[in-house]
Amino acid sequence: MGRVPRRHSDYPRNHRYQPALDPYRGKAITPPEHLQSDAELDEYVRQHAETAYHPSCTCAMGEGNDAVVDGQGRVHGIDALRVVDASIMPNIITGNLNATTIMLAEKIADQIRGRTPLPPSEADYYVANGAPVRGTPQRSA
Ligand SMILES: Cc1cc2nc3c(=O)[nH]c(=O)nc-3n(C[C@H](O)[C@H](O)[C@H](O)COP(=O)(O)OP(=O)(O)OC[C@H]3O[C@@H](n4cnc5c(N)ncnc54)[C@H](O)[C@@H]3O)c2cc1C
Repeated sequence: MGRVPRRHSDYPRNHRYQPALDPYRGKAITPPEHLQSDAELDEYVRQHAETAYHPSCTCAMGEGNDAVVDGQGRVHGIDALRVVDASIMPNIITGNLNATTIMLAEKIADQIRGRTPLPPSEADYYVANGAPVRGTPQRSA
């Protein structure tokens, strides 16, 4: 078992047992109190670990050495093979993935069919605390 999952599991336990939290501490829910050894925690992580439901970016779009596909989802170095799903996002987006994946697929479907791409949307969108949500692209594709 890698160190990261176990340490992740240990982290709340260690903080939880700081004296300052004595008046507030309740019974542990997860991992259960009786699991203490590294081996027990490793087994617990194996049985219960799960993803955060937004797997993405494992097959990044771009032109650099780490890029797998180009801006049309075509796999570098292999003819007639595209990847069109959340894996080709260069970086995880700041929201959930489903709508972005659909948008990405529609864009590449237009490219495959030779259709003129829709113009960029000028719709208003929520900006959290004035943060520049729409920034400069990090890669040219
Ligand atoms: C529990 C959960 C909750 C989520 N909640 C939200 C949410 O509220 N909002 C949101 O925006 N996103 C949410 N997401 C994320 C979102 O659903 C995914 O990021 C999105 O569906 C990714 O799309 P995708 O096309 O990359 O992959 P998928 O939707 O997983 O599509 C992959 C497809 O490929 C098929 N496939 C796999 N292997 C093969 C093979 N060898 N041959 C043929 N077909 C194959 C699979 O059957 C599947 O149909 C959630 C995800 C999960 C798991």
